[in-house]
Amino acid sequence: MVGFDGTFYQLRSDGSARPVVAGQKTPFAVVTFFRPEQELDLSQEITKSDLLARIERATNSNLFSAVRVDGIFDEVRTRTVQRQAKPFPPLAEAAKHQAETVFTNVEGTLAGFRTPTYAQGIGVAGFHLHFLRQDKQSGGHALDYRLRAGRVQICTVHDLQVELPTSAEFLGTNLEDRALNEKIKASEG
Ligand SMILES: [Zn+2]
Repeated sequence: MVGFDGTFYQLRSDGSARPVVAGQKTPFAVVTFFRPEQELDLSQEITKSDLLARIERATNSNLFSAVRVDGIFDEVRTRTVQRQAKPFPPLAEAAKHQAETVFTNVEGTLAGFRTPTYAQGIGVAGFHLHFLRQDKQSGGHALDYRLRAGRVQICTVHDLQVELPTSAEFLGTNLEDRALNEKIKASEG
């Protein structure tokens, strides 16, 4: 899922996107009221690692930051976990069977969060960005990208509210997993 400017889109495993309809559910979401307080203008081509390093320098590693990057990308590689059925497999298992989609020479938006290392498990530590093409017809979890030119907007988040499920499935699942950190990294990289 990705959402900004008041509209949420479901990202599907075939790389397509469609507006979320009323009543549709998601197992996990991180949202905030995005009030950008910083902007970075990028007029030169920049790789994912250089872009994230720039955003790291502009944000604080002990706070959450919401990030939005609008621009023209030479390339964006995405993937999205397929819809799962009961009994639901662990995320690491579900994430193994993911098709990648490659967008080249594409205009669009990356949106997501930088999460502090100490919050791994509540969120996904580090950067977690989803891509939506400008025509809103396709996108996915952003694995890699190269931005040709664009604009970054950043909003610091220091007010965290967590809502946990109360379903019998959630309450009855053993989440005492020492390898959780590795599994999240493997699934969400
Ligand atoms: Zn994702």
